[in-house]
Amino acid sequence: LSPVPSDILISRAQSPKPIGRLAQEIGLLEEELEPYGRTKAKVQLSILDRLQDTPNGKYVIVAGITPTPLGEGKSTVTIGLVQALSAHLGLNAFACLRQPSQGPTFGVKGGAAGGGYAQVIPMEEFNLHLTGDIHAITAANNLLAAAVDARILHEASQSDMALYRRLVPSVNGVRRFAPIQLDRLQRLGITHTDPAALTPEEVNRFVRLNIDPDRVTWQRVVDTNDRFLRRITVGQAATEKGHARQAQFDIAVSSEIMAILALADDLTDMRRRLGCMVVGSSRTGTPITADDLGVTGALAVLMKDAIKPTLMQTLEGTPVFVHAGPFANIAHGNSSVIADKLALKLVGEEGYVVTEAGFGADIGMEKFFNIKCRASGLRPSVCVLVATVRALKMHGGGPNVSAGVPLPKEYTQENLELVASGCSNLKKQIEIAHLFGVPVVVALNVFKTDSQAELDLVCSIAKDSGAAAAVPCHHWSLGGRGSVELANAVKAASHQENNFRFLYDLQMPIVEKIRTIAQKVYGAHDVELSPEAQHKIDYYSQQGYGSLPICMAKTHLSLSHMPDKKGVPTGFILPIRDVRASIGAGFIYPLVGTMSTMPGLPTRPCFYDIDLDPVTQEIQGLF
Ligand code: ADP
Repeated sequence: LSPVPSDILISRAQSPKPIGRLAQEIGLLEEELEPYGRTKAKVQLSILDRLQDTPNGKYVIVAGITPTPLGEGKSTVTIGLVQALSAHLGLNAFACLRQPSQGPTFGVKGGAAGGGYAQVIPMEEFNLHLTGDIHAITAANNLLAAAVDARILHEASQSDMALYRRLVPSVNGVRRFAPIQLDRLQRLGITHTDPAALTPEEVNRFVRLNIDPDRVTWQRVVDTNDRFLRRITVGQAATEKGHARQAQFDIAVSSEIMAILALADDLTDMRRRLGCMVVGSSRTGTPITADDLGVTGALAVLMKDAIKPTLMQTLEGTPVFVHAGPFANIAHGNSSVIADKLALKLVGEEGYVVTEAGFGADIGMEKFFNIKCRASGLRPSVCVLVATVRALKMHGGGPNVSAGVPLPKEYTQENLELVASGCSNLKKQIEIAHLFGVPVVVALNVFKTDSQAELDLVCSIAKDSGAAAAVPCHHWSLGGRGSVELANAVKAASHQENNFRFLYDLQMPIVEKIRTIAQKVYGAHDVELSPEAQHKIDYYSQQGYGSLPICMAKTHLSLSHMPDKKGVPTGFILPIRDVRASIGAGFIYPLVGTMSTMPGLPTRPCFYDIDLDPVTQEIQGLF
């Protein structure tokens, strides 16, 4: 339709096919599907065993130019592309998307199910609770947080023997270690398995974690933009007297458990990673893990359903996996390894899996290659880089925009000079993708204000910059048929020579890995470490964490650390303020500037528009 109706009207105008039918179409067996209502279902990981001899399909990553407040449309391009590949070219194609946090849904950004005629439906389901994975993460995260504080309290008030009697209770006169306690004994180098045989010194080592309350790094989480929880005091009731301490809440999707969900291979791997999560350190500086607290098994139980991806569909009835949604700054911002692996088997050798990375290529795509592909062992076939004329104009020096104010004329009228100048950012992002040896196809997401001359200019600059192809895409206004040219370009590029390689060797010292990303990807002259950052790097190297990959926590709004520097900043020194580690997820994350892990609500959040029709039970105002 023209004009294109609102996202929710389009979503609602299409009746999704029953999820069982979609599952049948893509070759799932009935017992591999766990329906959650009529339009979504979790799928069993056993599919991977059944299809272990099926060759993988082609693996396509969608990334973008440096984001601007004008939006680029990576999700819509991802969905438009699979609609074109599948519904129009007749190929097997799967989209793998992240599950959005409810923080932005009710806060500033709104939903993330794509838009126009390129959406996942029903978009209400996609944007709200889905199948409860984020709730499971919240529950697991907060169980661990509760375990930390309770342990500090109990250790403070009891003697070694009293603690021991409670930690290893006697049932019918027999004292027995739980299996997770036997693992701990082994880690401590205590060889007895008979609880009565431990010496007082061994009892002391076994029962005392000696967690330093000032060095607890594990925080509680909630999936709401609740800025007043950014700094809190816990332990103020009389029953916890003397144990009050400063703490904070983070948004649920920034929990390390979300990053683990996205990187784990299977249940065993997830459980292992959960156990390695470091929650703080002891008074003598030893890292304390979930395993030390004996909570790993319980965390795995809480996460046992979350590990299964959720199957949904696009507006054109093609399959989508929605799974995991780690923060793209302090974590790696990509959907799950498991969903990609399942989809690659389901589409078969001639098929395509299109997966999306958060933020610009310098962040989401770099982490996709260096962290996600390293964890999964999967090799990408093509990188699709999304750009818009409007965003390129902003990179070329166009004015800033504010919400609720009409766009300045620079963005609504032809301006080839701004476009040409802003293409420097596109060119740089193409170069970044080429560092990894992967062919690039530029998808120019067309807005109705773009002129033909502007579109032609971007495509010709992209091709001159080494892109295998650059094509305008009309999926937002036309659905899959608007992205057929893109689908053909991706298909051709996927048969091109591909020399995929990682950017750095894991054995390089931490600081060299950081410098490589800063110089080769961001274009920095060098990096500058704060004393704190240097100290942490020494500490992590000493602890044996030096060979983990790097997950830079940097603003997404610029290639540099300065959000207002658009285009391609050069000559800057990248300041590394601090360095942290997610040992379970398996990466070190240097902080470049301050990173908020709890967004806030604006004066007028999206929730003003959201309501429920009590008669039809339809959700209104979600977009
Ligand atoms: P990203 O994934 O880059 O954050 P999305 O694909 O979620 O961006 O799109 C952001 C918003 O922009 C959505 O509401 C979508 O409907 C809108 N949008 C995307 N492409 C277009 C387009 N070509 N014309 C108009 N609106 C668009």
